[in-house]
Order: sequence, then structure tokens, then C-alpha cells
Amino acid sequence: MNSMPEAARILVIEDDADILKVVRFELEEAGFAVITAVDGVTGLTTAREENPELVILDLGLPDLDGAEIARRIRKTSDIPIIILTAMDAISTKVGLLEGGADDYLTKPFEPAELVARVKVQLRRHRGGEVVTLGLLEIHPEKRLVRYNQKEIRLSPKEFELLNFLARQPGRVYNREEIERGVWGSDLDDNSNVVDVHMANIRSKLREADGYGVIRTVRGIGYALKSQ
Ligand code: CA
Repeated sequence: MNSMPEAARILVIEDDADILKVVRFELEEAGFAVITAVDGVTGLTTAREENPELVILDLGLPDLDGAEIARRIRKTSDIPIIILTAMDAISTKVGLLEGGADDYLTKPFEPAELVARVKVQLRRHRGGEVVTLGLLEIHPEKRLVRYNQKEIRLSPKEFELLNFLARQPGRVYNREEIERGVWGSDLDDNSNVVDVHMANIRSKLREADGYGVIRTVRGIGYALKSQ
């Protein structure tokens, strides 16, 4: 049940030849197909043209800053992005996650850990993994949600929305990301469809005493409480 359904194509953007070699080897050993780029501009083009299923991105590239690349990829795509960073500052990590990265690893890292994180992101992205956060349970394959063991009856779009937020609990998703992730494209600027769906989900959760499961960040978007 946890195996990958097919070989995912992974784009690795990394200018350090030694790290690139190791990462490629480990990913290929794990059954992934690997495409690579050694600078940011090529990486962005490759991400657009080759349509990989996940991007591993070095933060320190010769031409473009990795965080900027993540932001640009995020403008048009919701593929998982894992950042490799030499920096260890908390503010950097928070900034990366808010800027659109799904996960990060600090160098030096164990290649096996990178592979494990890649698998987690792909499972989350493909939506097969059961998520348990405190009293909340999301079963993507059965499209079932429970709170405190009580079933929450969501419409298909409400389910997709909740499941989308659950890809990375605690991360604040803005409306554009939610629209792209759940509706597949940006909606009309004046559309309040995200807010309406969010209000419906909250109201259904409240019926099961599920208060505060979804957090609103004023002027930015929404996050699922991380536990
Ligand atoms: Ca580098």
C-alpha cells in the first residue's frame, strides 16, 4: 500500500557535482527517474518543460537564489519542492516553507533521509496517505473524514480542500495556492468560493466539536492545525 505506483520523475537542481552525483545515485537506486540542472535558469526551464513530479532544489545556486526559484515554480505549479540548504537559521526555514517549499534538509544530510522525505511528499501529493492530526482523521482512499471518531460528511470539493491543507499541516496556504490545488486554476479575482467552502467545512467540524481545526491567517490564507 505504501509502494510508489510508478517511477516518479524527479528534478534535482544542484550546482555541487558531488552532491548531485550522490543524490542521483540514491534516487535511482530507489527506483525514481532523475533529471538534473546545475543552475537556476536551466532548472526553471526544465521544471516547466519536463513536468517532473517533485523538485529537489539547492538553495545556493550560482545564478538565482533557490528561494526565488521555489517562488517562481509555485506561481504555476503545486508540485512538491524539497530544499537543500546549508543555512541553519530558523527564520530561513520558516521563510522557505512560507515561500512555497514543502520540506527542507540541512546539509550535510543522509541521502537515505532525502529519499524517505521524497516518498512522504509524493504520497501526500498523490493523496493516498491517511492523515491523523489530533482528533482529526483523513482517509484519502475512502474519502472519509472523522473528528473525535465522528464522521464528517463533506462534499467532494470540501474533502479535496481539507485534504489539500493536510498535505502540510501548519503551513499557511494562500487562496491562489488553494485554488490551483483544488480547482486546478486561479479563479476569478472576486471569487469567494474558497472562503465559502472553508466556512462549510468549519461548520461541519463544529458539529463534532471540532473547533479551531482550520486556522485563518488574516490577509494570507488558511492552515490546518498541525496537531
Ligand atoms: Ca550550491
